[in-house]
Amino acid sequence: MEDKNLNIETILSHFAENRDKYEGAVVPPIFQSSLFVFKNWDDIDNAFDSRENNFIYSRENNPSVNIIEKKLAKISGGGKAKFFSSGMAAISSAILHCIDKNSHVISVKNIYGPANNFLNKYLKQKMGIEVSFVDGRDITELKNNIKSKTDLIYLESPTSISFSLQNIEKISTIARKNNIKTIIDNTWATPIFQNPFKMGIDLVVHSCSKYINGHSDVVAGAVIGSEEDINSILKTELALFGAKLSPFEAWLILRSLRTLKIRMEKHQENALFVAKFLRDHPAVKHVFYPGLKTHPQYELAKKQLKGFSGLMSFKLKTKNKIEIKKFINNLKIFQLGVSWGGHESLVYVPAISYRKELPEEQFGNFGISYDTIRISVGLENKIDLVHDLEKALNTISF
Ligand SMILES: *Cc1c(COP(=O)(O)O)cnc(C)c1O
Repeated sequence: MEDKNLNIETILSHFAENRDKYEGAVVPPIFQSSLFVFKNWDDIDNAFDSRENNFIYSRENNPSVNIIEKKLAKISGGGKAKFFSSGMAAISSAILHCIDKNSHVISVKNIYGPANNFLNKYLKQKMGIEVSFVDGRDITELKNNIKSKTDLIYLESPTSISFSLQNIEKISTIARKNNIKTIIDNTWATPIFQNPFKMGIDLVVHSCSKYINGHSDVVAGAVIGSEEDINSILKTELALFGAKLSPFEAWLILRSLRTLKIRMEKHQENALFVAKFLRDHPAVKHVFYPGLKTHPQYELAKKQLKGFSGLMSFKLKTKNKIEIKKFINNLKIFQLGVSWGGHESLVYVPAISYRKELPEEQFGNFGISYDTIRISVGLENKIDLVHDLEKALNTISF
């Protein structure tokens, strides 16, 4: 089904699926095959003339993976998508595609921790590539950091612990004027709630381990961009580092994509309900959620985002670790674990791992301490979720 005017739900259900080729099976089979065979010399010879468009070997292209790549590109409004074995594989590949040994990179400071480590510890400290970190809310600071050799601006909006936003359209306009590529991590918003291509971004990256798969049973990532950029990533970073997605995981993601829009709408409904409850609770000092009017960038959020997903953080009124532990350990429905974006509600205290990975002044500078609680609001009943939080909050003194 290739109709140009289909809406998102219909694309997710039918687009890029050819049931005649699957013996009529309503669910495409898993193409669990490492290679594809050809009838004769000329056929395989011709296939290599356009490697990016043919099934030759599953490190680069596989039909199960191809179905979800076409769907994701279509709903994102990008030219082409490529899946990877993790979000970090997608992020590191997209960054490496944009730079060479003489490049300078500008990145927002409080991006996802491992993406920050890739830029700072790997590219900067190990490979000697120049990287500048900026606040992201301050356009003048960003402009002042541009050099003639700046090749990439890396964004994440909203960021996933402090939930600060960047003005995507303003930054990409500046980048284009200066011939600089832009990448944005769009994991939080998903293509359902934010379209960075409309705002001039070159490459969009996702951790598909979060909402895109949404069932907490797959680790995966994706890069979306122009056909030219993605074909180059396919033949270079994907082919050479080899972090490809397995056909079985692609099939699980296909199952997940069918419900992406309705899941996101439900995450939004539940999250807004939970955020308002937390905002009004006496034991809570502050809620960081772009969907609340009290968010300092609420106007920008409403302009850039069509909706708000289920991840937020908040600060308790107490800094006493014993009380904070009591709150965490008394939650019953919110389970304690990393990651987010699945059907299940989760709670995490980012400082637990940050203090083992980053110097205190660095994570402290992001405003993260033990009283910073991050929750991923899942698809359970919103009243049950609020009761769970209420019971645990009522056990602590502040
Ligand atoms: C989880 C996450 C990633 C990394 O994705 P993996 O699939 O875990 O490699 C990147 N960006 C954000 C915002 C994330 O939350």
